[in-house]
Amino acid sequence: MKTTLIDSPASLAHRLPDGHPEHDGRYTAVREALAGIAGTVWAEAGQAPVEALARFHTVEHVDRVLTACAEAGVEGFIGLDPDTVVCGQSARAALSAAGGAIAGVDTVIRDGQGAVFLLARPPGHHAEPDRPMGFCLFNTVAIAAMHALEIHGLPSVAIVDIDVHHGNGSQCLAERDERVLFASLHQSPLYPGTGHRGETGLGGNVVNVPLPDGTDGAAWRAAFEAEVVPALRKTQPALILVSAGFDAHADDPLGGLGLVDEDYAWAAERLAALASEFAHSRLVSVLEGGYDCPALGRSAAAFVRALARA
Ligand SMILES: [Zn+2]
Repeated sequence: MKTTLIDSPASLAHRLPDGHPEHDGRYTAVREALAGIAGTVWAEAGQAPVEALARFHTVEHVDRVLTACAEAGVEGFIGLDPDTVVCGQSARAALSAAGGAIAGVDTVIRDGQGAVFLLARPPGHHAEPDRPMGFCLFNTVAIAAMHALEIHGLPSVAIVDIDVHHGNGSQCLAERDERVLFASLHQSPLYPGTGHRGETGLGGNVVNVPLPDGTDGAAWRAAFEAEVVPALRKTQPALILVSAGFDAHADDPLGGLGLVDEDYAWAAERLAALASEFAHSRLVSVLEGGYDCPALGRSAAAFVRALARA
């Protein structure tokens, strides 16, 4: 399928203290790995306006993040929680990530179909309506979902979260809006400690698939088929959004699952097939986690190559 790669070069402006796992080398690793993949076209993200963020976040949250960045100044850092730190340019990066996701939605709706992969940091899926957390400032995928629902008038959207961590912030959106299906495969127990099977949202629009430490790719694929696919088929969303974290990879230092590069190609193939089955072949994936740079680059490239082949 036509595959647009949306690049957010402002990702490099989001600097973090030395030793932080969510460093700018992650962006560079993916950018280099995605160069020259056949069948892809590149576009560049612009910044999301505050009103787009405020379709998911509270205005107080947006103000708090923007103010902290302004106060960090040229050389400083400000911690919003023990893991989540900003510098003076972090707002520019986070606004560009959200803008890129919105542009991804606009692209697949304008073209009538297609796949988008957004290369941006910081990640977003832990950010709650009124709380930055887990390296995340603004919830990129939730903002994109609200843009699809409110600006394009889609009747429903799905967020499929394949990051090794549970997307607690994105789940908040489904818990308040029955037009959203949130389905997540994640390691449990693990940060942030949410994502239990008993969390089912509004009449079942939250589907959590917690997986034990050590789960390999075969078991991960089986869980996807058994639990995520039926939820998508039942919901028939008009657009599939993917929180594409690559930290379920066996080489990742923060996760304990055992996926390999080929599992991400498989996931992209399955998601593209499901999108063509009922979501008008509209599939927008946004980068979340992935903290071993070589594995991250290879996995993201495998994912994008599979999209372009689909
Ligand atoms: Zn993660």
